[in-house]
Amino acid sequence: MSAVRGRYAPSPTGPLHLGNARTALLAWLDARARGGAFVMRIEDVDFTRARPEFEAQLLLDLHWLGLDWDEGPDVGGPSGPYRQSERGDRYAAALARLEVYPCTCTRRELRALPVTSMSGEPVYPGTCRKGQSNPGRHAAVRWRVPGGSVDFVDRLCGEHRQDIDRDVGDFVLQRGDGAWAYQLAVVVDDADMGVTDIVRGADLLDSTPRQLHLLRALHPDLPAPRFAHVPLILGAGGAKLSKRDGAPDLGALREAGASPARVVAALARSVGLVPPEVREIRPRELLTTVQADDPLARITSQPLDLAGL
Ligand code: GLU
Repeated sequence: MSAVRGRYAPSPTGPLHLGNARTALLAWLDARARGGAFVMRIEDVDFTRARPEFEAQLLLDLHWLGLDWDEGPDVGGPSGPYRQSERGDRYAAALARLEVYPCTCTRRELRALPVTSMSGEPVYPGTCRKGQSNPGRHAAVRWRVPGGSVDFVDRLCGEHRQDIDRDVGDFVLQRGDGAWAYQLAVVVDDADMGVTDIVRGADLLDSTPRQLHLLRALHPDLPAPRFAHVPLILGAGGAKLSKRDGAPDLGALREAGASPARVVAALARSVGLVPPEVREIRPRELLTTVQADDPLARITSQPLDLAGL
């Protein structure tokens, strides 16, 4: 098996909440337990939402938790830059190799489209496909999606299949305001950075077929990464953890003098990696508790127990 390269790819659009921290911990564990490298990439493509102060804070918070990375915006590395805001030339080069067209549909027009797909999202009917030659400055750029379905087996969620053309339609690769779409940036970056294993939240499961379709178009010879979409974190009541559970973000815990080992233990208990009596553990110690060939094999989803943090 080729060397494992994992990554965590946070968007610096707010403080890191405990769900993000748990996903980061699992991604780190998955790479490190198999002797792999770990890459930190800042997903700040959406310049209307990303803020440098959130980036600085999340890197600090993740270090505080006990995670480390071999490559990233603060440590450099051979496949940088590691901030998407500095990688626009790569996205432009990828876009130039795809069959795309400008789309001038307004938000209101897009909202009015009927929902015909299983995902509950409207399918873009290709309104602008035959497009005007002079769309003006504020056109979005859509990929003319080639037919064919995408299949993959997620390490945790099992088999998944989607026909992008039928279920999503031509999707946006660059917004009208010039921002690169997450779907394009993530595919270009994971390929450039040699990522073999993607561990991320289950809310992104639905994006994966689009990304695999793009990967196939851009790099037909590159093996697809393996995916593990980890459960979203649950609050005490068993529903998705929310502010109402009184869940502090990681920075607030750090500033309040919490112990990172207690936070890591709570996160590890919430995926069944350690038994309920474990109240303190360091990420490095967690490495010895997991199955070496498949560190995420036994993860479950338990409500997060915030007591004693
Ligand atoms: N930047 C995305 C987020 O913070 C994660 C993207 C990914 O892991 O592919 O939700």
